[in-house]
Amino acid sequence: MTDGFGALAPTGLPLNVEYCTRCVISNQKPISSNESQHKINDKKKTTNFEGGVCDACLWAEEKETSIDWNLRESELIELCNKYRKSNGDYDVVVPASGGKDSRYVAHLLKEKYNMNPLTVTWKPHKFTPIGLENYFSLIDSGQANILYSPRGDVQKKLTSLAFKNLGHPFQPFIAGQRVVGPATALKYDIKLVFYGENVAEYGNNKDDNYSPLMDPGLYTCFDFSPDTLNDYYLAGVSLKDLIESYGITLNDLNPYKSPSIDEVKNAGIEVHYMSYYRKWVPQENYYYAVKNTGFVPNEKRKDGSFSKYAGIDDVLEDLHFYMQLIKFGMGRCTWDAAQEVRTGKLEREEAVALVNKYGSEEPYNLMDEILEYLNLTIDEFREIVDRFRTPHLWRKDGDKFYLTYPVK
Ligand SMILES: [Zn+2]
Repeated sequence: MTDGFGALAPTGLPLNVEYCTRCVISNQKPISSNESQHKINDKKKTTNFEGGVCDACLWAEEKETSIDWNLRESELIELCNKYRKSNGDYDVVVPASGGKDSRYVAHLLKEKYNMNPLTVTWKPHKFTPIGLENYFSLIDSGQANILYSPRGDVQKKLTSLAFKNLGHPFQPFIAGQRVVGPATALKYDIKLVFYGENVAEYGNNKDDNYSPLMDPGLYTCFDFSPDTLNDYYLAGVSLKDLIESYGITLNDLNPYKSPSIDEVKNAGIEVHYMSYYRKWVPQENYYYAVKNTGFVPNEKRKDGSFSKYAGIDDVLEDLHFYMQLIKFGMGRCTWDAAQEVRTGKLEREEAVALVNKYGSEEPYNLMDEILEYLNLTIDEFREIVDRFRTPHLWRKDGDKFYLTYPVK
């Protein structure tokens, strides 16, 4: 074993690994939490299993059997009628990466429900060529857009720290992405914000799917002020320490600052999920985005999976999924395959074969760019990665690591 193997691995994961009998995720899947309190070596909460079936699969069944989607659409029409502006101003903010899901949401709101969306993009760490092409084609397809960028060098510094401290290079990005919708709404006096899917689609508490609203705790949790910098964490470091020890200024952190709960309430801002109103099927969003908005998938499958159309905008996305594999034993292929099983596009047996074939790959196609971004050599990179390998999920044979409990 290398030095430090598992030293910073997540804690709180169940020691017995149990796979869902319907899809391919295991009980190691973490559920999302308040990112402003995310510290080093945090204890994780994991997804719920009932009778061998994961929450996401139980929800997938409810989507087919107990939701009246026509009724949900009439609720959506009513919501749009309430917020639609007739003076030509923007009336809904759609946080959008240029990926298939946000294109679907923005296009639908504009063309089918006659809204006037303003899309807003939290800048990726480093656009892939296809990501950049899709970002501009989103705008060219008829969507107004604001590109919201923290300083690139600060973003890089925070991402590097989040990788080294939390094994979660995307953490500052996720924090920013959650803030950017409501913050833009506040700035432009828009009352309605639409995100795509509730994360509960994939395994947070399934009952969360019965609310159209995003939990305000998720997008108001970075409402720091100069007096409270010690109480908020980004990249595993308190904001106070980031300023005192890492050469970051308060001004640099302000793009990550969220509206407070009172600001959101007083402004009357509501943050909704489209997955509440329309049955969320990622492949269908993909077909829709290609047909109606000129979305282009990746030329070849992404490393670590079989899929070409999800998570293709940002070079660092490949690392993000890889670190999930390292920490939870499940990466890009598991998420792709699991949701395709749930939506009836793949049989479980095929999904298992795909995960075992592609699931443990390093992101080798983009590795040079990842290393350049993080300013690391491959050896330094692997040493950091190994610190986050969860000991009960990995075993070493020769100089290679293998999953102790691959999906069967
Ligand atoms: Zn499942």
